[in-house]
Amino acid sequence: MRRILSVLGSSGSIGRQTLKVAKACGHDVAAVTVNRSVELAEAQVREFKPRLAVAVDQAAAADLRLRLADTDTRIRSGPEGLLEAASLPEADTVVTAIVGVAGLAPTLTAIDCGKRIALANKETLVCAGELVMARAREKGAEIVPVDSEHSAIFQCLQGCRNRGEVRRLIITASGGPFYGKSCKDLSLVTKDQALKHPNWAMGAKITIDSATLMNKGLEFIEAMRLYDMPGSRIQIVIHRESIVHSLVEFEDGAILAQLGSADMCLPIQYALTWPERAPGPAKPLDLLSCPPLTFQRPDPETFRCLGLALACAERGGTSTAILNGANEAAVALFLEDRIAFLDIPRLVERALERVAVVDNPILDEIFEADRAARQAVYDAVR
Ligand code: MG
Repeated sequence: MRRILSVLGSSGSIGRQTLKVAKACGHDVAAVTVNRSVELAEAQVREFKPRLAVAVDQAAAADLRLRLADTDTRIRSGPEGLLEAASLPEADTVVTAIVGVAGLAPTLTAIDCGKRIALANKETLVCAGELVMARAREKGAEIVPVDSEHSAIFQCLQGCRNRGEVRRLIITASGGPFYGKSCKDLSLVTKDQALKHPNWAMGAKITIDSATLMNKGLEFIEAMRLYDMPGSRIQIVIHRESIVHSLVEFEDGAILAQLGSADMCLPIQYALTWPERAPGPAKPLDLLSCPPLTFQRPDPETFRCLGLALACAERGGTSTAILNGANEAAVALFLEDRIAFLDIPRLVERALERVAVVDNPILDEIFEADRAARQAVYDAVR
């Protein structure tokens, strides 16, 4: 099935791999959006000839307009540009590959327009999962996960006619570059070490989240929202080899798993072609050259971000938006070399202590929780 894509965040890791899949599988691209990566945006426009290209940054958009003056592509800027890309009538599928809570508003717009959402922005579901899923049900918009773990669960659920038969979801975690380290070891890690993931090549924010295990905490919350599952029925297991991407356990004790090479092209492609499958660019897995598969218990005490995320998953309300906002702010500070690795959980915990949680929040209360959490982080480092 040929799809017409609007790729939000086309310069990031998932965005670039989405275009690779589009090229290999013959999907059309109607819109691309970047923050300020104009060189890459120009190359993407020249290759895929979308109707619309967005640079959120105003100056970058002006530059892009000059560079692409000889083309028919319309150039837009600002958050309104993102919403225009999310609602573009020509597109039937919106790939939400923007990092962070910035993806929330465009995702809601795409849902309102009844698009298929290939969801690569986990922060959206972490902050506003109940609202987003309710809106998708109401509008009949399909949400198909791109995150490898959630795609694995989605794939394992395809043969399941009755969700009541699902006993547990089992999410695998690579453990990141610092698996097995002590708190003392973690206090000494550098940015360069944290940016070296053993198995996956990803963007900077998610790579740091993988090193702190916050990524797995966010994914736990994402799974609760996507699959309407209480946290008590979701298990995280460390699986260093990143071959089993996640599993579903059924009532009779059967466990289905999805295996594959650590290549995001497969979950991206499946989000586009579902319920069908098609040949694509993902690297096949050769079982005979796989290392032995191992599974271990995670350590949420040493990896404090995971412990905090699991506590917020249980608490609910705006606590998950506070967790996410504080984490986004703290990771940005870490990437600017302004704080140490273990300051990330410290600052997140501090924000959770200072910002009051609102139950059953409306959208404005979620944005306010996000803002207050970031403020609490900035106040602590000033
Ligand atoms: Mg993942």
